[in-house]
Amino acid sequence: MSSTSLVQRLKSKGDFFAISLDEPQLLENRESFELENGTQVSVLDSGIIRFTPATTPNKAVVYSCAVHGNETAPIELCDDLVTRALTGQITIVQPLLVIFANLPAIKIGQRFVEENMNRLFSGTHSKGVSVLNDERKRAKRIEEVVTEFFTSYPELSDRHHYDLHTAIRDSKHEKFAVYPYIENQPRSEEACYFLKASGIDTVLLSDKPTTTFSYFSSSQFNAQAFTLELGKVRPFGQNDMSRFSDIKSQLDDIVCTATYQPASCDLNELNIYRVNQTILRETDSFKLHFDDDIPNFTGFSLDEVMASEDSVEHKAEFEGEAIVFPNAKVALGQRALLTLVKCDLQYGVIES
Ligand SMILES: [Zn+2]
Repeated sequence: MSSTSLVQRLKSKGDFFAISLDEPQLLENRESFELENGTQVSVLDSGIIRFTPATTPNKAVVYSCAVHGNETAPIELCDDLVTRALTGQITIVQPLLVIFANLPAIKIGQRFVEENMNRLFSGTHSKGVSVLNDERKRAKRIEEVVTEFFTSYPELSDRHHYDLHTAIRDSKHEKFAVYPYIENQPRSEEACYFLKASGIDTVLLSDKPTTTFSYFSSSQFNAQAFTLELGKVRPFGQNDMSRFSDIKSQLDDIVCTATYQPASCDLNELNIYRVNQTILRETDSFKLHFDDDIPNFTGFSLDEVMASEDSVEHKAEFEGEAIVFPNAKVALGQRALLTLVKCDLQYGVIES
């Protein structure tokens, strides 16, 4: 396919994601072209596309999906947005980078091929190995692209990155956000307004630096960044997209409305949790004291045993202490369970 016909196809069908997945060789020339509305489009890699608006922007925005390849609803949301932008159904007014992260994992319908990509950011991709596997190479490439993107707009301090996910297990709170750890800075109330407007009423405050994609953007570029868990994993075509209408309209508004401002809300309407215990699997005797299919955010009674190994019992230290992301099968030394208790938004923020 000639580059002219590729550009014509992208402008008429907008199927950048499908091409990235099934015919990535068509994107090897890394085309740049202009839409009728003046927006500049740059194909940076398979699954990575950048929109540069014709008008003066006031924020820089990154949307990412498929860091876990089987989390289809976020892929459908991003694919739909890119398609509408390419075909001129919407006009992008803020610089926008859209990333379909793990294409090989999407191909096989799995969370990952060799390892969890959301443990590879902030340079972890290149630590402790002499040869990078494909997921490590891709995480490195994604970091380069995001760095290039944010640093090309030094005048735009209002930076956003929403890393879209769906979760493996049921959840007492269907949608929730992981707010990356930030040092010596108050957490943003306006960011919480965005979450509420997006239909996300639960926020988990991370308590330490991590190797996730959202922490990378937050810590490196001071972006308003979240890992957004938008519901339960389902196969392509089986997502009830009406359940995503609020987040979809917010994601549209942020990049299509120059004066975007989320409606303010009462922060007391949000469930805000802090991490109370990080429980590691240290030995083969580690076990969780609840059913495999327990929903995230299930609460325990004070002193109830949640996990144990050898003679050590991990008990709830607060009435209603909730569990999230349990996984008894992680490698030794890795996190098998987080426990949470409710708090307010600025919990643990050091005054400075
Ligand atoms: Zn995920």
